[in-house]
Amino acid sequence: MEPERKLNLIVDVDSKSGFCYGVVKAIRQAENYLEKSEKLYSLGAIVHNNTELSRLSEKGMEVIDHKSMENLKDSVLFIRAHGEPPSTYSTAEQNNLKIIDCTCPVVLKLQQRIKESYKTLSERGGTLLIFGNRGHAEVNGLVGQVNGDAVVIEKMADLDVVNFSKPIAIFSQTTKDPSEYSALVSEIKMRIAKAGGPLEDFNSNNTICRQVSSRHPHLKLFAAEHTVVIFVSGKESSNGKVLFETCKSVNERCHKIEKADEISSEWFSFGDKVGVCGATSTPMWLLEEIAAKLRQL
Ligand code: SF4
Repeated sequence: MEPERKLNLIVDVDSKSGFCYGVVKAIRQAENYLEKSEKLYSLGAIVHNNTELSRLSEKGMEVIDHKSMENLKDSVLFIRAHGEPPSTYSTAEQNNLKIIDCTCPVVLKLQQRIKESYKTLSERGGTLLIFGNRGHAEVNGLVGQVNGDAVVIEKMADLDVVNFSKPIAIFSQTTKDPSEYSALVSEIKMRIAKAGGPLEDFNSNNTICRQVSSRHPHLKLFAAEHTVVIFVSGKESSNGKVLFETCKSVNERCHKIEKADEISSEWFSFGDKVGVCGATSTPMWLLEEIAAKLRQL
């Protein structure tokens, strides 16, 4: 029998992938706390990555949802980088929960800007728009700053309910695609012009996080320089979905996986140059682990 031939892949890990600083800070704080205590309740998953979650769960982190939080009393609650609406803080106070607040500073600033903008906008009968995914934790936190009085825009058709003859302000979820945001702003300007509304009353705030937006041009180059791309991200990760599409736009041979055992040798040809990269919630150690497995093929 002929010995199985090795694929001899050339494998590079993208040095600019790995956790963003908001996630690094949140994980560090959770780990610091768990060094001294046995239990920490995290409201939602700290990262959308099951491998990293299992590692933290072994240290004592338990992920709970908002419903379970209502019944949690006299404990310590971890708020992740996505941030939370004010109602979460009121419930925590009522239930005597001590909060470790790891809302990313970028999200915190965005929440404040939304609150301030809403004050002037509502006095003039205007509409606050948030470009984001309905039901996403960060978006819930943003909409909560204005008691839900904002229109979440996921797609162009969501603009149909907006009155374009009144003032409009738009903010973006931090992990959205910058080119989609630009297209949305152009569409809004067109609709304002059509409705005869003044363009000076349109306030566009591109609040996409630079840690995400700077990855788009970089990943385009990285994906184009490799014959195959392995993109590593949790299935729930919002920026993972967006960044994967960016890679795919320049390289059709892109595969999105969550862990090493999803790799299929059928994706590769002999000597392929493989690039391994990931989302802002994908740990660098996981990218290295996956690269090591690819080098063995
Ligand atoms: S992507 Fe940006 S906003 Fe989101 S957690 Fe990371 S640093 Fe903060």
